[in-house]
Amino acid sequence: MNAVEMPLIKLVNVSKIYNSNGIAVNALKNISIGIAPGEYTVIAGPSGSGKTTMLNLIGTLDTCSGGEILIDNQDVSRKTSKELAEFRLHKMGFVFQAYNLIPVLTAMENIEFAMMLKKISEKIRHEKAMHIMDELGIADLAKKRPNEMSGGQQQRVAVARAIVNDPLIVLADEPTANLDSKTGDSLLNLMEQMNEEKGITFLFSSHDKQVMDRAKRLVILKDGMITEDNILR
Ligand code: ADP
Ligand code: MG
Repeated sequence: MNAVEMPLIKLVNVSKIYNSNGIAVNALKNISIGIAPGEYTVIAGPSGSGKTTMLNLIGTLDTCSGGEILIDNQDVSRKTSKELAEFRLHKMGFVFQAYNLIPVLTAMENIEFAMMLKKISEKIRHEKAMHIMDELGIADLAKKRPNEMSGGQQQRVAVARAIVNDPLIVLADEPTANLDSKTGDSLLNLMEQMNEEKGITFLFSSHDKQVMDRAKRLVILKDGMITEDNILR
């Protein structure tokens, strides 16, 4: 098989069982899917269907109970937590509610944070952060801390932070959940533009019709299983 045909994200018979107070919850049941580089995919489905679980596994923030997960041809279950941290830093961007902005840092510092971890020089860091903020129309927020910004502004900063490092994959869990439809729409425009211009692979979870309507590929999860998977455009 040549490299072009290899999916960037590959799940083979993946299951996830949570144990809460002795009760087993089967959150994902033998899921298999391949996602090619440059795809723009929305995972939809009702609340509790397993969307966040699936994104957490793909983001290597949690481990599966069975099956195999390959990201960029690497079996993530074979990596140590230190290797995974490095892997995420170089390959992934997150727009997760639980991974929100660091309250004591300004927008600019939040955007630069991952680049600091990657030991990128201050000059390049500033240039890249300024450039991305300009592109996203948030340059005026550079010196603001999260509690001085609206939800929509914080989401934009979170997107800037997720894409500033040119990741292979951006994972976004319910990215429009706290936004009005106008702000949500401009956020989606932005991500679609990044997908088309930079070829970044986007994977969202959402049960928001606004997000589903704009998916290029729509995967439906129900009760921990994939019930539909369609390429729309
Ligand atoms: P969605 O994001 O589609 O709403 P989730 O992935 O959050 O779905 O949850 C899938 C199922 O797993 C639900 O039944 C949920 O209650 C359960 N679940 C999620 N996280 C945990 C956890 N940490 N412990 C126990 N059960 C969990
Ligand atoms: Mg969820």
